Amino acid sequence: MSYAHKLTGSQEIRLRDFDPEYDAGLNREDGEARLKALSDELMALQEMLYAAGEHSVLMVLQGRDTSGKDGTIRTVIGPLDSRGCNVASFKVPTSDELAHDFLWRIHNQTPRKGEITIFNRSHYEDVLVVRVHNLADKKTWGARFDHINHFEKLLSDSKTIVLKFYLHISKQEQEQRLLDREADREKYWKLSAGDWKEREFWNDYTKAYEDVLNRCSTPFAPWFIVPSNKKWYRNLAVAEALVLTLRPLKAGWLKKLDAIGQREKAAIEEFLKQSQMTKK
Ligand code: ADP
Repeated sequence: MSYAHKLTGSQEIRLRDFDPEYDAGLNREDGEARLKALSDELMALQEMLYAAGEHSVLMVLQGRDTSGKDGTIRTVIGPLDSRGCNVASFKVPTSDELAHDFLWRIHNQTPRKGEITIFNRSHYEDVLVVRVHNLADKKTWGARFDHINHFEKLLSDSKTIVLKFYLHISKQEQEQRLLDREADREKYWKLSAGDWKEREFWNDYTKAYEDVLNRCSTPFAPWFIVPSNKKWYRNLAVAEALVLTLRPLKAGWLKKLDAIGQREKAAIEEFLKQSQMTKK
């Protein structure tokens, strides 16, 4: 069994059926040791992904305020080679962005072949915050689920591996994290009155997230529900999902890299032969 719950759209889910406190019976020490092994494997996989230049990886991170999007990026993605890694953070759209369709700013940030891009928030905000705060009418945001599925199918058909993570925390855990920030001067920079206000909409977000998870989980772009009350478990679950998704592609990448190597070797041998002949 894997640490995150993978959804491919085969069944309807309710968030209350997933325990944010879940840790698969591991303790923190075990979890961190396992993360270290996965992290090493992920680094090796990234090197091959980059060198083979055949696929790209898009990792979408969504979750309520304080759910740990930044921490996940720091811990799971931090050790990777920054040449092949980008993080795109999506904020309140600018007037220029709002003057286009909602996917315009998103498509522009998708990964090049060989690269991994992490979306810190994403196109899903357009069916989450936009819905909860009535920033568009129902007909407009309601049509977006299909737009998103078609968009992600296009990416997948273009050899982009799409993985989407919902970092699942409890309301109580969120409160604790917000209070911790207030109690710790070094975390003051993270304080936002908006986070407390958004909390008032907890149930609306639950409904909006459930619709996202039920309508936009597909075999080509699955959602993963990541129990995230325990930060070490969240990191472990995300790293494992990445490794389990990339590992089966390794054999194909190695084959391609071997063919490239053989071609180059033949070219070098030919060059050396020619240069010896001209010397004679
Ligand atoms: P974060 O909370 O991700 O660390 P910010 O505090 O800058 O970063 O918050 C970004 C804000 O932008 C969030 O409140 C988010 O809901 C909002 N946002 C992102 N995309 C959209 C969108 N398409 N429409 C409206 N608001 C959006």
